[in-house]
Amino acid sequence: MGPLQIKDILQTAPENQSVVVKGWVRTKRESKNAIFIALNDGSTINNIQAVAEPGQFSAELLLTVTTGSCLKVTGQLIASQGAGQTVEVKITDIEVYGTADPEEYPLQPKKHSLEFLREIAHLRPRTNTFSAILRIRHALAFAVHQYFNEKGFFYLHTPVITASDAEGAGEMFRVTTLDLNNLPRTEEGAINFKEDFFGREANLTVSGQLEGELGAMALSKIYTFGPTFRAENSNTTRHLAEFWMIEPEMAFFELEDNMDLAEDFVKKVITYALINCKDDLNFLQNRLTEEEKNKPQNERSLPLLEKLAFVVDNPFERLTYTQAIEILLKSKPQKEGKFQFPVTGWGIDLSSEHERYLVEKHFKKPVILTNYPREIKSFYMKLDEDGKTVRAMDVLFPGIGEIIGGSQREESYEKLLGRVKEIGIDPENLWWYLETRKFGTAPHSGFGLGFERLVQFVTGMGNIRDVIPFPRYPKSAEF
Ligand code: ATP
Ligand code: MN
Repeated sequence: MGPLQIKDILQTAPENQSVVVKGWVRTKRESKNAIFIALNDGSTINNIQAVAEPGQFSAELLLTVTTGSCLKVTGQLIASQGAGQTVEVKITDIEVYGTADPEEYPLQPKKHSLEFLREIAHLRPRTNTFSAILRIRHALAFAVHQYFNEKGFFYLHTPVITASDAEGAGEMFRVTTLDLNNLPRTEEGAINFKEDFFGREANLTVSGQLEGELGAMALSKIYTFGPTFRAENSNTTRHLAEFWMIEPEMAFFELEDNMDLAEDFVKKVITYALINCKDDLNFLQNRLTEEEKNKPQNERSLPLLEKLAFVVDNPFERLTYTQAIEILLKSKPQKEGKFQFPVTGWGIDLSSEHERYLVEKHFKKPVILTNYPREIKSFYMKLDEDGKTVRAMDVLFPGIGEIIGGSQREESYEKLLGRVKEIGIDPENLWWYLETRKFGTAPHSGFGLGFERLVQFVTGMGNIRDVIPFPRYPKSAEF
């Protein structure tokens, strides 16, 4: 089925056997004795070298073999004479599938800035950096499914279109088929959503959790892994308007179990990448080292592979929000007024500079913060005995900040109903969610991991827009 992949050809023992290689030209180099064409088909970071003799092909044909053109090369697989590869292809025939005019083709064999590459997102998967990221992204997604499958979880497909606005007030993308130039009105003059497609207001989901909980109350352990949409206007390096979220939800798990699962889960999927993406990780590590070459020694970060191994090998630090506030109040940046948002006391929402201080400066490892004040967390989180804090847990990572947000859920019908009313949600809108607490309620917990933040961490990329093929962010949905 289909041609051999370059990844496999590079592993094959050369015995003069005939091979067909199909791929895109990365570089062409002509010397007195030979013409070298480096081909890549995206199956690996490594190119295969194809070699022709001068005069073997017409100048006219060779002129169309340029960076970016697509070729079918036929030849013999032989041991390579040159350094850098063990095999190469001695070309007998070249078919040019598609040319790429060097005057126009924007990807030349030189270093392009990530900002420039974002403007040509239709072509950037052909660069070493992006193909490495996309292969790692694939491996991580595969590892996620494998992990949960082996642990007895079921993959639950929660809806992308939702009518509950419980979670993301103000951050949702509306879904409508109404004619925006001619909106139906009620007698009071408001928009009449009864005439809309679903007969009510509808939006793109900001989280599959609430439906995930319904699944966990039947299948015990489920996870979702799907696209999530947030219209938050955060032009940061850690936010996208469309991102992928992994949300496991488990009956009979308390907060401790939830933390244990979250920690084991991230460690296992990172380990999968370390084992299966060596070439790509090495490439990205060298890229980062190169980038930091000009920084003073003490400002350079750990080499990528060491950073990943460190996270896998060391237990995450676990502490309560209250303990974190005490540390922050006594911290150097707090005393020297270096925080953009000074810590004013218990009850504040931590900003990412606070989270990163705890992770990168104070503990120097991933941190799980628990038991946040109820006022700054969601209504569905289980109240602690003191009535002031909830059984929340956020996992904070170096360079990223929050990578996971989760909690034990409130399983008491009365308490949950009380919280729903308190924050001003109409219980009618959540009748189905509330009924899980009425019929066979159970202690349960879950969390959400932002998949792109995980890919960011594993690849060491600084901007979340560079770890998804076609990023969506304010004023940008070009490709
Ligand atoms: P933040 O405070 O960083 O905006 P959040 O508290 O809104 O995150 P949650 O609602 O708990 O995040 O979502 C769970 C996880 O989803 C987060 O831990 C993060 O990894 C990821 N996430 C949240 N918002 C985004 C976004 N806009 N783009 C990419 N990932 C996101
Ligand atoms: Mn957010």
